[in-house]
Amino acid sequence: MKLTISIVAAITAASLLIVFPGGQAKASSAVKRQTEAANEQAAAAEPDPLPARRGLYEKLSLFTEIPWNWIAAIDQYERSMSKVRPKARPMLGSTVGVFIDQERWVGPLNPNTDDSSPASIRFFNGIGRDGDGNGHAERTSDVDLLYSLVSRVAAYGTTEDDFAIGLWEYYQNNRSVQRIQQFARIYAAFGRLDLFEHAFPVPVGTNYAYNSTWGTGRSWGGRRTHEGTDIFASHGLPVRSTCYGIVEVKGWNPYGGWRIGIRDLNNFYHYYAHLSGYDKTVNIGDVVKPGQVVGWVGSSGYGKPGTSGKFPPHLHYGVYSDRGLIEWSFDPYPMLRRWEQAERKRIRAGK
Ligand SMILES: [Zn+2]
Repeated sequence: MKLTISIVAAITAASLLIVFPGGQAKASSAVKRQTEAANEQAAAAEPDPLPARRGLYEKLSLFTEIPWNWIAAIDQYERSMSKVRPKARPMLGSTVGVFIDQERWVGPLNPNTDDSSPASIRFFNGIGRDGDGNGHAERTSDVDLLYSLVSRVAAYGTTEDDFAIGLWEYYQNNRSVQRIQQFARIYAAFGRLDLFEHAFPVPVGTNYAYNSTWGTGRSWGGRRTHEGTDIFASHGLPVRSTCYGIVEVKGWNPYGGWRIGIRDLNNFYHYYAHLSGYDKTVNIGDVVKPGQVVGWVGSSGYGKPGTSGKFPPHLHYGVYSDRGLIEWSFDPYPMLRRWEQAERKRIRAGK
């Protein structure tokens, strides 16, 4: 019992150390695609919240016996949902991304919508729990928010299969379960939270050309808009992962030819199409890092499996943001420019 109390105290101490500016991004539909890039830049300028988060996950892991990478994955998935729907999911705590609406927190039939009493919340089957040991289940406390969600999900057990059931019961949605499993694997593979570096999709310094072509019309396969940037290069130039992520899709598609799709921790899906082939060591479910070769530039697509040469060789690179039930495409061009410049600088500095 004494041990439990000291862990609770440690968690509380960790939560007090967390500093976060608390600004919220506004997303109007007109500036949607610029917003993603702006968010990323803004995030880079803020003080690093990761050490405090890591401390919180580890302490909560000790307390609940749930692996830290699962806790981190849930928090990061929640954060990605809040980023795309900031009005519906305002930031409740200081550093965790968890959003739980008031009714779910106190219980649907609870007459006291501001209830913070753990006993009466439990009575009304609310989710709110007291994780930091101060006697209150507060929806504004990082520890209470994360602890409440994690303990609800872990109610079915703590093996990977139990966890999948708990996630499904909580989210009622297979996509959410898949995302959190993917995030947990990425965290497990690298053992850290700091996984937001990027690389340009082809080696910088080689011969290639690209322009901003997002949203323009295209000819094949009916009326579609162009959801990406085309990087023209010769056949066989290496295609590299732009991010830390996990391979979600690999194989033939009539439009994209041999294509590969990689999910990152921002819940962005990076899509590479028209490849001439794949690096054979990279398969669905594998974790990749920025700059890792996943395939080669080609001109596959626009027909049956193996169709090639219907257009000049190029890499089609698209990025999609997951909004929970749907994904939207946003213009990767500004990010590509940034990653290219950063890589040029690294090359010049001899790194
Ligand atoms: Zn394209």
